[in-house]
Amino acid sequence: MTTPLVIGNWKMNMLASEACHLAQSLVDMSVDGVDVVVAPPFTSLYAVSQIIKNSRLGLAGQNFHSETKGAYTGEVSLEMLKDVGCGYVLIGHSERRQLFGESDADVNKKVHLALHMGITAVVCIGETQEQRASGETLSVIETQLQQGLVGLSGESITHLAIAYEPVWAIGTGLNATPEQAVEIHKYIRNFLFESQGFSKKIGARIIYGGSVTPENCKELLREEEIDGALVGGASLNFESFYAIIKSSLEP
Ligand code: PEP
Repeated sequence: MTTPLVIGNWKMNMLASEACHLAQSLVDMSVDGVDVVVAPPFTSLYAVSQIIKNSRLGLAGQNFHSETKGAYTGEVSLEMLKDVGCGYVLIGHSERRQLFGESDADVNKKVHLALHMGITAVVCIGETQEQRASGETLSVIETQLQQGLVGLSGESITHLAIAYEPVWAIGTGLNATPEQAVEIHKYIRNFLFESQGFSKKIGARIIYGGSVTPENCKELLREEEIDGALVGGASLNFESFYAIIKSSLEP
């Protein structure tokens, strides 16, 4: 059975003291059987890493530069994220793609770097409302996967997660229905393990993101195809994030 993966993406929220407080509550919850990961802003990563260091809680960077070092004012490298304890990194979040022009080629460079450094790459993909309305969802997903994962072979992949996040569902309160999510998750699974021939042994998890809340998480997470959740807004509050984490363990 796949261990569920539940990631809280804190985006550009919370001061370091607030981030530490929430991290401490998550450490204290002691839940087994699910991999829980938090992605605080850069300024809180080190402080949070000190709080979670002897716990099962994982730490993720929200982004990094695809070069390893140099004159890139305002950027951080993956080695810097690893140095402060990140075992996971989000790559290609739709906000990065839409607001900061991140391309599939950038995503691909970052995925290679992360996997080379033994860091779990959480690759975010998903269609916009217009693309769904015009029937392009599957081709958008296929292009993002094809270009984002180009050059990877099953053997080179140690840790990988794909987050299906329809852009129209992120931060809007409009989640995908379980049927919509399952359809895309099946497509992604088929792409990885049938078309690309990745070994099932790599244990790539396919998680859903987009307005996941304590109210809708049960029906999404009980689907066999959905291996966990990437949670934005509802991860900023301990009670709502905890409710989602608990749901991931329910049959
Ligand atoms: C996200 O940031 O990846 C996300 C899914 O946000 P929200 O849960 O707020 O829609």
